[in-house]
Amino acid sequence: MSGFPIEVATRIKTLPPYLFAAIDTMKQAAIARGVDIINLGIGDPDLPTPTPIVESLGKAAKDPKHHQYPSYEGMLSFRKAVADWYKRRFNVTLDPANEVLTLIGSKEGIGHIPLAFVNPGDIVLVPSPGYPVYPVGTSFAGGVSHLMPLTKQNGFLPDLTAIPRDVAKKAKLMFLNSPNNPTSVIMSKDYFKRVVDFAQENQIIVCHDAAYSEIFYDGKPPASFMEIDGAKDVGIEFHSLSKTYNMTGWRIGFAVGHRQVLAGLGKVKSNLDSGCFQAIQEAGITALNLDDSVTDGLRKIYQERRDTLVPGLKQLGLEVDPPPAAFYIWVTVPKGYTSASFTAHLLEKTGIVTTPGNGFGAPGEGYIRMTVCTSKERLAEAVERIRKAGF
Ligand SMILES: *Cc1c(COP(=O)(O)O)cnc(C)c1O
Repeated sequence: MSGFPIEVATRIKTLPPYLFAAIDTMKQAAIARGVDIINLGIGDPDLPTPTPIVESLGKAAKDPKHHQYPSYEGMLSFRKAVADWYKRRFNVTLDPANEVLTLIGSKEGIGHIPLAFVNPGDIVLVPSPGYPVYPVGTSFAGGVSHLMPLTKQNGFLPDLTAIPRDVAKKAKLMFLNSPNNPTSVIMSKDYFKRVVDFAQENQIIVCHDAAYSEIFYDGKPPASFMEIDGAKDVGIEFHSLSKTYNMTGWRIGFAVGHRQVLAGLGKVKSNLDSGCFQAIQEAGITALNLDDSVTDGLRKIYQERRDTLVPGLKQLGLEVDPPPAAFYIWVTVPKGYTSASFTAHLLEKTGIVTTPGNGFGAPGEGYIRMTVCTSKERLAEAVERIRKAGF
């Protein structure tokens, strides 16, 4: 591309530096040296999509009626399956006609929602550390992220009282994420209630990301934001089949809640994409109707992995709490290290890939993120390698 005279747009040029690039380089070098890498960096289920879902796609893909453009808002039968699932799982009633919107993965909806409501210069409240799509989607729409730091002191929950009044008054949207990536922390119904009050008082649209609501431990399912009285009047909830059913590659998710907010997002989508392949929506219906035993089985596997890795790390003297949900382990780096230097140390001395916490935002400095998307045997081996290498 040398000599190409046209520069990329400012919105691309001003993206925050890719903090994982250094790790990537080191990882490639280690692989080239023949190191047996244990990858605890990826947030992508290693287990296959359950067979009935795959079979459902196969069947639907053969039907020519699914070969044309789908509707941008999704098939009514899929949206009805979502509403039925919300009723069963959360006892929340949704109108499939206008309170459910099909997405091409929830990332698509999260990235697009600011385009529907944020004018240049408008403020969006964003948890940090957090999923990078919240601030990036905001900046693509010309908005300005006001970071809500997640720290040990505030229990890794955004401190609503710490948001300056003028910022709150000017904010248009607020992103929240429970169970959280990267900290795995869950928001209680009491917390959600305070969010509803805050949003009503300041006229803010709440966009709650519930991608991990079904990856929970110890038999304690997290709440949906939509369970709270008034939630549907202040916002929407993003959801995904990706993590629940090992379907990250399939690209299907949905948003539910406030009908005008969904209509705004739908308007953006109808101008940018042409909906989710209907055969995948058929497979999605199969997924949402699966017996709980399928997701129970997956949760059991993740829990065994968590219960291998976390006590192992603790025994080595690392500061870490067992997460109540999601597949992330948020580890405090030992004295004398930064997020970057501890990540580098683990990769160089043990061949273990982790993610530096500050890659999710500056307040994540002092932590690294590990995932349990690897077999428990490999996780046990990871602990053993760290024991041998020391830190
Ligand atoms: C993985 C993830 C998503 C969404 O994934 P999709 O595959 O796009 O549905 C959304 N939010 C968070 C925090 C995630 O980690």
